[in-house]
Amino acid sequence: MDRSTFIYMDPKVPHNASQCATCWKFTGSSCLEFTSKDHIVAEGSCGLYSTGTPNPENKGQEHGGSTPKEAGYVIRKVRCEHCEYFEDGDNDCLLFRTLNIPNYKVDPDGCCNANEAKDEEKEKPNKAQTLKRYTR
Ligand code: SF4
Ligand code: SF4
Repeated sequence: MDRSTFIYMDPKVPHNASQCATCWKFTGSSCLEFTSKDHIVAEGSCGLYSTGTPNPENKGQEHGGSTPKEAGYVIRKVRCEHCEYFEDGDNDCLLFRTLNIPNYKVDPDGCCNANEAKDEEKEKPNKAQTLKRYTR
């Protein structure tokens, strides 16, 4: 993934934006994108997120078009406010600045596909490596 696929989304719902709990593809224990055997939780998220209301009645309709790994499924809070690059106080994104997009404010509840958990929240690739990946 490189900067040509860098996508930022403002939140459509507050607080739990970008988590399975606010995605219409979530059935309560699985995801329509994966198989019925893939156990999915409300605190998860992936790159196929789509804002809406989860529906347990959709259980059994999972189509298995993707695997959790392919979709980038993770179990953690993925919003800007939990991201390593979010600069609290002025709602700046260090990654945007590095990409020469100055003065672009992000929403604490926003999200993008470059989201990185803060050091204390994950086992993660090194921050310098990620910046290099997006700025080469
Ligand atoms: S795994 Fe992705 S597509 Fe499935 S419910 Fe969660 S955010 Fe939505
Ligand atoms: S890199 Fe982090 S702070 Fe910046 S837009 Fe993406 S999720 Fe938000």
